[in-house]
Amino acid sequence: MIELKSSEQIELMARAGAVLARLYEVLPGEVRPGRTTEDLDRFAEDFIRDHAGATPAFKGLYGFPATLCTSVNEEVVHGIPSTQRVLREGDVLSVDCGVKLDGYFADAAITVPVGEISTGARRLLEVTDAALARGIEAAVPGARLGDIGAAIQEGARDEGYGVVRDLVGHGIGREPHEEPQVPNWGRRGRGLKLSAGLVLAIEPMFNLGTASIRTLADEWTVVTADGSISAHFEHTVAITEDGPRILTTVPGNATAAVA
Ligand code: MG
Ligand code: MG
Repeated sequence: MIELKSSEQIELMARAGAVLARLYEVLPGEVRPGRTTEDLDRFAEDFIRDHAGATPAFKGLYGFPATLCTSVNEEVVHGIPSTQRVLREGDVLSVDCGVKLDGYFADAAITVPVGEISTGARRLLEVTDAALARGIEAAVPGARLGDIGAAIQEGARDEGYGVVRDLVGHGIGREPHEEPQVPNWGRRGRGLKLSAGLVLAIEPMFNLGTASIRTLADEWTVVTADGSISAHFEHTVAITEDGPRILTTVPGNATAAVA
């Protein structure tokens, strides 16, 4: 069942989203060679809990043990923070995080460079982030889910990147994952008709190589099958009569959440 949100509910989700956006304003400054993914996880958990009522939404969700998913290089999503995972110059780090506040969830992801990264890696990050922006632009009342997916997919196709198809975006609200599924591919004019009040987590995952992925023996970490690096960007977006509204942003600072 798809639950459309009232403007009051969307405001509550924006409060959760603002906590996440503020985290993403400062977290990239904590990412540098020599730090562990566990260091970042502790930083993020403390940051979120410093906001009254806010809790890390992923910790304990389906049994996930941490505040952040930290996925390095060929890891696509759901990497588990670890004291053993030391970041190195040239790595790319995807961070995915959820915040729950006053009963509502927000979900967002960024991929950040560790020190200097290769030109090819930097391009992958830029193109994936830009594809998210185009997907968000397509999220308007009367459009279709396929319009979002097509807009995202076109960005990858021009570069020859693999678009991960086995993982998708999703509705979000009082639950971290709600209907509908939001694929990162599609055909314009196809799929569910978008209505004001629909709130979606839109989250392209692009691989430098093929689209194929597999899950490691820890049963969480998803990696590219060919070992190529991967990028992931995500926002929680409300479809309103005035167009798409990014909820995972700092109020009055609309561009801040896009790293
Ligand atoms: Mg996420
Ligand atoms: Mg998500």
